[in-house]
Amino acid sequence: MVDLLIIYIIITAVLFIAVFMLLPRFGPHTISRLTCPKCKKKFNYHWVPGASFISIYRGNTRRLKCPYCHTVGTFNIGTTRLSKEQVRELKTKA
Ligand SMILES: [Zn+2]
Repeated sequence: MVDLLIIYIIITAVLFIAVFMLLPRFGPHTISRLTCPKCKKKFNYHWVPGASFISIYRGNTRRLKCPYCHTVGTFNIGTTRLSKEQVRELKTKA
């Protein structure tokens, strides 16, 4: 008879890998269109809703570095998130 604890550990490990490694890469991404408060340039930020403990702790705000002027600012990714139609438009343009 196989120890139930070992099965439990294996299932937990597989789930852990799926949530923390596979989901951010291949899972459903949410893209937020952010505007830098300093240089006013727009950039996209990719994130996975509810995939990390940090997102639960921080809610909808992230401290991010602007890719243009490298200024760290606090951005609200909840109100700036793009709809599926907007993401599709963005991908066909690129
Ligand atoms: Zn900037």
